[in-house]
Amino acid sequence: MKIQFHRGLEQIGGCITEISTETSRVFIDMGRNLPGCGEKMTPEQETTMVENIFASNPKEHEAVVYTHAHEDHVGLFDEVPENVPQYLGEGGKLILLTKYKLLKKRDEQLLKKELETSHSLYEGSGEVYDRLLARLSQFHTWERSKSPKPFRIGDIQITPFFNCHSIYDSYMFLIEAEGKRIWHMGDFRKHGYLGKRLFDVLRIYARNIDVLITEGTMLGRSDECVHESVISNKMANVMQAFKYVFVLASSTDIERLAAIKEATKKAHKSLYVCSSMTREMMRLFTERESRISKGLFDFHPHFYREGSSLEPMMKKGFVMVVGTGVMERVQELSAKLPEEETLLIYSSWDGYYKDPEQIKVNPSYQLFRSLFHNVVDIHTSGHADRKTIEEVVRIVNPRKAVVCIHKEKGLSLESLNLSEEIKKKIVNEKTVSL
Ligand SMILES: [Zn+2]
Repeated sequence: MKIQFHRGLEQIGGCITEISTETSRVFIDMGRNLPGCGEKMTPEQETTMVENIFASNPKEHEAVVYTHAHEDHVGLFDEVPENVPQYLGEGGKLILLTKYKLLKKRDEQLLKKELETSHSLYEGSGEVYDRLLARLSQFHTWERSKSPKPFRIGDIQITPFFNCHSIYDSYMFLIEAEGKRIWHMGDFRKHGYLGKRLFDVLRIYARNIDVLITEGTMLGRSDECVHESVISNKMANVMQAFKYVFVLASSTDIERLAAIKEATKKAHKSLYVCSSMTREMMRLFTERESRISKGLFDFHPHFYREGSSLEPMMKKGFVMVVGTGVMERVQELSAKLPEEETLLIYSSWDGYYKDPEQIKVNPSYQLFRSLFHNVVDIHTSGHADRKTIEEVVRIVNPRKAVVCIHKEKGLSLESLNLSEEIKKKIVNEKTVSL
């Protein structure tokens, strides 16, 4: 059995890990590089890279299995050869289908406008989304479940276990073949509503592991992450102090949306959204998770659209979840509100507006902040802090090796407070043979 890290040992995101036996191989994630992390690639270079990966070490049975639906893990799915099956959690697949359907619709509407005004020819950009949707619809899925249900690719057996991360429906895997056992953590954290059982699950299922693969996004940061419920309480406090509150957050982060919703309730305000993406994601989460979460993931926001009456919102105040994609609508609305009574809660990674490289790639987060006189940052990471990674390594305590991917260049698990015995097992090589 062989593990190959095509990408990810020295960069956050863009991870591609190959696990192979004599007859079979699976890739865990086929991610696109995040802006500012790893080598910048053109679409043509990406195509060639994936072609080369599939051309070498071919096996009779092959598949790609995704940990979750973030772009830096699933972004290159369209480059995967058509005859190679792809697997993703059912919820993750639904997120991607919803996303591309809406993007296609928005694209068509923009195109309509464009045709009306400039008589430009239809370039067929809708076809791109049709293709992505067609490929996605063929994805194999598994359901989120409390009891593990494995599936097989040739002689490799994979068991998904759901974990807590900043996107709905994220997983870690037990991978077994030729008598060896690998545990892949995916992207994870403990400090969210869904992270409570992380250590218990590892103690029960991550036994006799030969190789542990963990993420290390937060290795370079020493601070301990606060729990999602603390974020919610902080939000509730400031929501009481301002009449009109906008919250900039990711529409696919079910736990952050729950934190915002709970805070809104505590502040006796009404929850609004103004983007179809956020509305549809909330609908999806409510449909699938409301009952099982005892209402935590139950969302019934008001929808504010162009031309909606402002009167009830002006009178009672509101909380509106927004993304950078609806900047124009928010700008229009916030211009009608008294500046001193309006607040933006910035609930995303601060690097988007602090890091010059990030601003260069995407200035919209910084621009969004500049629309508001009052801004407060309330956020906690979607990734495990150092203490949590330490505890994961201690619990799994692999026999042969522990490998850290999804980490900044130059960082290492060596900097963690681990025993000398475990430190000897830290490996940072592109290939690990078992
Ligand atoms: Zn992620």
